[in-house]
Amino acid sequence: MTVRLPALPTGVRDLVVVGGGIIGLAVAWRALGAGLSVTVLDPDPGDGSTHAAAGMIAPATEAEFTEDAALHLHLAGAARWLPFAADLEAASGVSVGLRESGTLTLAYDDTDAALLRRILALHTRHAVSSQELTVAEARRREPLLGQRLAGAAWVPGDHAVDPRATHTALRRAIDDHADGSVVLRAAVGLEQRGGRVVAAVDETHHRHRTDAVVVAAGWASAPLLTDIPDVAVPVRPVKGQTLRLQADPDLAPRHVVRGLVQGRPVYVVSRAPATDGPWKGHCELVIGATTEENPDDRRALAGGVYALLRDARVLLPAIDEAALIEATPRARPCTPDNLPLVGPTHVAGLHLATGHHRNGILLAPLTADVVVAGLTGSWFDVDISSGDPSATLAALRATDPRRFTPPATDPRTDGGTR
Ligand SMILES: Cc1cc2nc3c(=O)[nH]c(=O)nc-3n(C[C@H](O)[C@H](O)[C@H](O)COP(=O)(O)OP(=O)(O)OC[C@H]3O[C@@H](n4cnc5c(N)ncnc54)[C@H](O)[C@@H]3O)c2cc1C
Repeated sequence: MTVRLPALPTGVRDLVVVGGGIIGLAVAWRALGAGLSVTVLDPDPGDGSTHAAAGMIAPATEAEFTEDAALHLHLAGAARWLPFAADLEAASGVSVGLRESGTLTLAYDDTDAALLRRILALHTRHAVSSQELTVAEARRREPLLGQRLAGAAWVPGDHAVDPRATHTALRRAIDDHADGSVVLRAAVGLEQRGGRVVAAVDETHHRHRTDAVVVAAGWASAPLLTDIPDVAVPVRPVKGQTLRLQADPDLAPRHVVRGLVQGRPVYVVSRAPATDGPWKGHCELVIGATTEENPDDRRALAGGVYALLRDARVLLPAIDEAALIEATPRARPCTPDNLPLVGPTHVAGLHLATGHHRNGILLAPLTADVVVAGLTGSWFDVDISSGDPSATLAALRATDPRRFTPPATDPRTDGGTR
């Protein structure tokens, strides 16, 4: 059974997507599936935040105390991943590395354990499945755990996917489609005529004429829209670092392992053994992540690398035996209310898909479906089996990009609003 969210009947046939990270490519691929002809503009597709992401699909373990809309959005997003992965793998022939492993959450000391119990109570309040474990029970599930732990919980519905593999699969599916193309150029602006967006202009001054543009350029989305005052895009960069290691399969955890170590969150995501390449037979481990109110300077700071390794090896001491092969800093696209901007704007032909902050991998399939429903004037189905349908609808409405646009000022009054 489904409930339905009406979309705008815009009748779009040609689409330009600005930005080829996981969000832009997911929108482009689903738009191709809906019969649109799609051009993606990006000088370096996949080299933004998507390149750093660990790929957790973690609505429960990402839940924050004051962010109910985000929790319901994330639950709806997670419910879309399985069918999205199956469709994409069938279309591209590329595995996206989805592992339905569940997540083990650990607490290092008593204060961490008290916070973990409060998080479990939050899950209970929202009917999200999780269960407190003794440390011995946790160790039976994951024999590699460290000696000094004060608490544990099992979160069966939080999984992980490989964002880089997913990006490769999306790129392949778009490249193979007769109506899809990825142009390796940056957009420098949008052209409007008669109150609607009619083209995206790239760095060579080429005009890509179109019925609609979706701006999905991550934290760099805002500068593209400075000439369009009716659209506010308050997205800022929030830098984060992940580390990539290669481990012998015997030393790789079976589940996603998250932890609180003296109040600091840390996680380790383990992938299936590589089937080719220089690390064939080894498992990639991704340790994350720092959060810094800094721009995307692409510099991995030693202090961040040290802190991630220090905290992760408390949970999984075998990390000492893994080869450290990469430290990856990138900036997440973040909004003032930590919710993304998804859907049509006040300007005809201009849609947004950005601001996904810490959960853009999780939200990529849902974002693509919502944006394409808005572009094609089709209906958007909310699957009520994925949670509370009215809470899901409220969460989707909370992502309306128009929420930050100030009310128009009435020139006849002293700054009054119409
Ligand atoms: C350290 C770290 C760990 C993370 N872990 C997770 C996780 O486990 N799970 C999860 O769900 N999310 C995670 N995230 C968040 C996730 O990575 C982002 O929310 C997501 O990648 C956003 O995707 P995007 O496509 O909007 O942006 P991006 O991936 O940043 O892509 C934006 C694209 O736009 C392009 N672009 C920029 N300017 C222009 C222009 N002018 N013209 C054309 N193209 C342009 C860029 O080249 C880039 O390819 C993590 C992020 C970080 C930094």
